[in-house]
Amino acid sequence: MHSLNTASRAAFDLGPRRLMFWAILGLAALLGGCATNTMTGRMQASLVSEASVSSQSMSQYSAMVGEYDKKQKILTSGPLKERVDTITNRLISQAVLYRPESAAWDWQINVIDEPKTVNAFAMPGGLMGFYSGLAEQLGATDDEIAQVMGHEIGHALAGHGAEKQSVRMIGELSAILVAGVTATSGRDFQNKHQTLSLGALAFIAMPNSRTAETESDRIGIELAARAGYRPEAAVSLWTKMAAKSSGARGSFLATHPSPDNRIRYLSDLQPPMLRLYNLSFEAAPKEASTFDWLRGPKSQRPKPDPSKAIALYSPQWFAFESGLTELKGSNVPVFLIKQGTLKELHANQRWRDLAVSVMDIDHQFDLAYFYLSEAARGLGFVEASKVYASKALETGKDDSRSCAKHMVLNCGAFEPAKLALN
Ligand SMILES: [Zn+2]
Repeated sequence: MHSLNTASRAAFDLGPRRLMFWAILGLAALLGGCATNTMTGRMQASLVSEASVSSQSMSQYSAMVGEYDKKQKILTSGPLKERVDTITNRLISQAVLYRPESAAWDWQINVIDEPKTVNAFAMPGGLMGFYSGLAEQLGATDDEIAQVMGHEIGHALAGHGAEKQSVRMIGELSAILVAGVTATSGRDFQNKHQTLSLGALAFIAMPNSRTAETESDRIGIELAARAGYRPEAAVSLWTKMAAKSSGARGSFLATHPSPDNRIRYLSDLQPPMLRLYNLSFEAAPKEASTFDWLRGPKSQRPKPDPSKAIALYSPQWFAFESGLTELKGSNVPVFLIKQGTLKELHANQRWRDLAVSVMDIDHQFDLAYFYLSEAARGLGFVEASKVYASKALETGKDDSRSCAKHMVLNCGAFEPAKLALN
């Protein structure tokens, strides 16, 4: 935030007009700087792009690894290095199925020989580190290491690095704005600005990091389950971690503040995660899961199909996959407002996002069931697709739910006659 501090000083030094400029810029940024994260479905501050934080991270990461390397603390072989590499590789091969664009990331993992440090980290863009102390002091099993690395990859996939920087920037811009409007002198501006910046950090950044931790736990346990690592390990890992490293400086729990209900939350997720874990042994290995993401040539990397991007498990998604989704709501206005967006998602074959949007809007138009049918077919849920197609036809018999009979709704690609012929 160095550049912004400089900017805020310059703003006041150059007088009210300059200040007004910054204030307007700040407001515009606050209003425009939000976007929905496709991985988590949550609105996030996005003033700073993922690409820009990834390139910053690369230089920080290289410097950090370089330092450890000088002290000969980077493990280049041995059982722990092999275990961590294998586990991480299997997790990456799942991660790219959720966010296909991450297949182009510069995925890296370094195992650092620091027996006293119980920690691991991931920087934006998939740059990771694992301290040997985590395995040694916790006596961590492969399944538990998979939970740690899954959690770290979760931070990267959910774009928490870029979000954190954006949130800080919003706090800083708000502080400049409020201090600028209320200050009576240059000194008063500096004082107010400082107090407000600290206040903004305390109120905005803290709850945010808890949300980020929960999301990463959530993503981590699922990546691990799909990669064939037992979900119970999430509970045993955090139990061990809490016993070992609570509050210790540099420990995992110091850099990953623990949501109070972490263990309960992960326990509640056991049944669906166990189902994914069992499925992982039945599913034929995908191209992505047989590739060596850490050492394989970048030019030969598999390119997961963006239209087949998978979604994190939720009861809603599970029902959709199984052909059990019932649209029961009567959200007509929202459906009408969003019909352009839905049409675009359909045209661009963004099946996951289409299905989730239709279920979120929840209105029982025949067109809505048609979209569910198309999304299910695109994602390979053939049986579910048939169920939704017949629901579309059935629903359309009711004039009030038929897009063809509706005053404002446009059926677009949905042609009931054609669907009936299939
Ligand atoms: Zn974390």
